[in-house]
Amino acid sequence: MMTAAQGLLTIDLDALAGNWRRLRDRLRSGTECAGVIKANGYGLGDIPVARALYGAGCRTFFVAQMEEGLRVAPTLPPGCRVFVLSGPIPGCEADLTAAGLIPVLNSAEQIERWAAHARARAPGAPAAIHVDTGMERLGLMPSELAALREDRRPLEAFAPVLVMSHLACADMPGHAMNARQVSAFQAARAAFPGVPGSLANSSGIFLGPAAHHDLARPGVALYGVNPAPGRPNPMAPVVRLQGRILQVRHVDAPATVGYGATHWVAGRRRIATVGIGYADGLPRAASDRIMGVLEETPVPLIGRVSMDLVTFDVSAVPHPDAVRPGALIDLIGPLNPIDDLAARVGTIGYEILTSLGSRYARRHIGGTAPDGGTERT
Ligand SMILES: *Cc1c(COP(=O)(O)O)cnc(C)c1O
Repeated sequence: MMTAAQGLLTIDLDALAGNWRRLRDRLRSGTECAGVIKANGYGLGDIPVARALYGAGCRTFFVAQMEEGLRVAPTLPPGCRVFVLSGPIPGCEADLTAAGLIPVLNSAEQIERWAAHARARAPGAPAAIHVDTGMERLGLMPSELAALREDRRPLEAFAPVLVMSHLACADMPGHAMNARQVSAFQAARAAFPGVPGSLANSSGIFLGPAAHHDLARPGVALYGVNPAPGRPNPMAPVVRLQGRILQVRHVDAPATVGYGATHWVAGRRRIATVGIGYADGLPRAASDRIMGVLEETPVPLIGRVSMDLVTFDVSAVPHPDAVRPGALIDLIGPLNPIDDLAARVGTIGYEILTSLGSRYARRHIGGTAPDGGTERT
């Protein structure tokens, strides 16, 4: 049956796998490349994403929440590691261990709690330790790190398998914060001799080898967002978002379009109404600001984005036949990349991806999944 969905989201798993390899190849030799698949694989489907990354060679994954780990981990082949960035929620320590998930311990309190859990029920349970080097969000504060250097007993109850920190300004290579964090992390690692280190997110990989350590944690670049803003995007696009034309109208006399009558047309325009809106994650801030593409022709979005509908001025499309009910307009595609859309609405690709709505027909194409072939979800 032909899909009745009004928005089509196509996710290219081969491009995703290629992006992972491209990032891995930038790392200094000996550095492992992980994959960050939190928030449902940045909105693209964590299970197919993880499977495609596994096919490319990825064996270490990061999720934000335990619930995410519980869903994805059982779908991965044995030998994979899944870290939970938020750490253990009080009372859930045994569930983490039972599921084989590895928590990231972000405070002295979490370290104490994990040590107590390990002593009582799970000797040598693995965990990562997150040291704050300037983000002031999660991670051991300098005073907590100093205390741990004095009294190492909590560290003896469990197995620290990774020490990590997170960069605040990696997408601004010239920012002084980067050098401060790189050296603070180097110093902090001395407290954990023999424990592998991890600092770089996607943009951190592009800061060079001093940020690479033993394990890199790219997320957004895997999904095609530019990790090096201001420079040409080294990543391949992964997402194509298309909206279906419901109706085409010819305007001959002066008129206004949409809620608030914000957009004025002087007459003689063709307008296509497309069946997706802010309920699908297309920001209302896109009103009168973004470009769709139809038949390789840029078509401006005119008027307000409403809940289920948007309108495009398609007057410039040369073939009238192309503008018909059922035809698809690209909102994100080869000629209008996600970073452009994000910039035009004053946000970042991360937010566009993780806001992608639940009404789209999602199609995963390509993929080197163990069971092979194209899958449709
Ligand atoms: C989300 C996240 C990442 C991945 O960041 P990107 O900028 O998407 O590459 C890495 N590390 C931590 C701690 C994160 O929260």
